[in-house]
Amino acid sequence: MLVSRSCAKRLLASAGRAARYSSTGTSQLNSVTEQDIEYFSKILPKTSIISTLAPISSPSDELNSFNSDWMGRFHGRSTTVLKPKTTRQVSEILKWCNERRIGVVPQGGNTGLVGGSVPVHDEVIISLSNMNNVRNYDPVSGVLVADAGCILQSLTDYVAPHNHIMPIDLGAKGSCHIGGNVATNAGGLRLLRYGSLHGSVLGLEVVLPDGSILDQLTTLRKDNTGYDLKQLFIGAEGTLGVITGVSILTPPQPQASNNVILSLPSFDNVLPLYQTVKRQLSEILSAFEFIDRTAYNLAVKHGQGRALPESETVGAECFILVETSGGRREHDSEKLLDLLESLLGADKPLINSGVLSQSPAEFSSLWALREGVTEAVSKEGKAYKYDISVPLASFKQVVDDTREHLRSKGLLHDKAVKYVLGYGHVGDGNLHLNIVADAYLPEITDALEPYIYEVVASHRGSISAEHGIGAMKTHALHYSKSDVSIELMKKIKAVFDPKGIMNPGKVLE
Ligand SMILES: Cc1cc2nc3c(=O)[nH]c(=O)nc-3n(C[C@H](O)[C@H](O)[C@H](O)COP(=O)(O)OP(=O)(O)OC[C@H]3O[C@@H](n4cnc5c(N)ncnc54)[C@H](O)[C@@H]3O)c2cc1C
Repeated sequence: MLVSRSCAKRLLASAGRAARYSSTGTSQLNSVTEQDIEYFSKILPKTSIISTLAPISSPSDELNSFNSDWMGRFHGRSTTVLKPKTTRQVSEILKWCNERRIGVVPQGGNTGLVGGSVPVHDEVIISLSNMNNVRNYDPVSGVLVADAGCILQSLTDYVAPHNHIMPIDLGAKGSCHIGGNVATNAGGLRLLRYGSLHGSVLGLEVVLPDGSILDQLTTLRKDNTGYDLKQLFIGAEGTLGVITGVSILTPPQPQASNNVILSLPSFDNVLPLYQTVKRQLSEILSAFEFIDRTAYNLAVKHGQGRALPESETVGAECFILVETSGGRREHDSEKLLDLLESLLGADKPLINSGVLSQSPAEFSSLWALREGVTEAVSKEGKAYKYDISVPLASFKQVVDDTREHLRSKGLLHDKAVKYVLGYGHVGDGNLHLNIVADAYLPEITDALEPYIYEVVASHRGSISAEHGIGAMKTHALHYSKSDVSIELMKKIKAVFDPKGIMNPGKVLE
């Protein structure tokens, strides 16, 4: 259902007359009007538009879930959600919004944790949820080409019968989209083994703000023909264009996967343990994940996975989940058992005990303990989430220092901060530092920021290891990027999006 040029021009003229400048601070951006809805209704079926404006006039609560993020921390005031089904429709929408200077927020599964997927003010939300088809799969090369709105779990299920897996896995896999994963350059639980999306994404189809379609949906492993433009959109958080298609390399499914949870008497043992595990398991090591005691207790309290027998957790300061993925079950199990034996038999054991999964159900249950921490934290209260890269040796110190800092400000008590905890991907140097409170309070934010960013900068770390900048950290970008880098980012943004319609207020101030 495409509109003719003359019809578009007529509507554009009337919408322009009706346009009012928003008083929002996203200067120069216009609010959506009824004329805009009239135009969108010519591109999309009415069932693909949710809008409180006439002639659609949806009840306002239909927009709530699109206007609020997963944590309930960030809220927008969009009047309109559009759900295109084709790349051509996305192109028509963006072309119109660009000419009308209407801000646009691309939204995938809305599981992002930095407020990137919801409007700052009243931008139009483009939900990719109707673009959910696999376009092509080659089980020989393992290259999958899919619409950006495909849910990660559904792609995992799609490639499984072909004995392949997705190169990325994370706790939000049942809701997040592959396009959202690419837009955030999500890391997750398989990065240690399969590397980042900058490596496994082979090509992208992106609609640029002026409506032009950048077709770089190649399936080639090797292509050295000048600038690799797709890399700019990986991690751009929807600020440069809307990703509509993804070509990605899926690795062969490991023939055997095992996991074990190790309980450690002290955090000081984590690094020597990591060295030992890497040396002994070498090529079959696929994950090395850290959960501190508080995070473990919350996961258990909220029923994530099955709790370890109490005898195995007595005296444990933290836990490490080790996963192996290899080619032969007996060989891998033998290596893992040898590792456990040598760890427990050492003169000064690095671990108290280990719980080895014995069945696929136990394997999933051990993973659920680690993956479920995010969910458990959200059930416990309002979470301030800092997703940082710091040297491995500092993980515990950063968590402890933050707790003491809040205590010194008088904020560590039942009515304010309840827990300070750490977990994350040790193998990737990525700590998830979470502060759980009863409510989001300005005094807690003021105590945490810039404190945490300064700590990160003092370690020459990153203020965002994997979640991105979103709306949450635009003011803090300079802690991890030099002035020269930020200036270049602004110039790149201006090349792609001179009118600043794409995801305003995100990544760059
Ligand atoms: C329980 C839980 C566990 C998580 N675990 C991890 C983890 O281990 N590792 C990790 O890295 N992250 C993790 N996350 C956060 C992570 O960023 C997201 O889950 C995921 O990558 C976002 O995908 P989404 O489709 O939900 O994107 P959204 O939340 O909808 O959007 C995120 C950003 O991408 C942009 N965007 C979305 N789709 C497109 C598109 N098609 N084109 C252009 N821009 C787009 C949005 O504008 C926004 O800026 C977790 C989140 C939850 C809730």
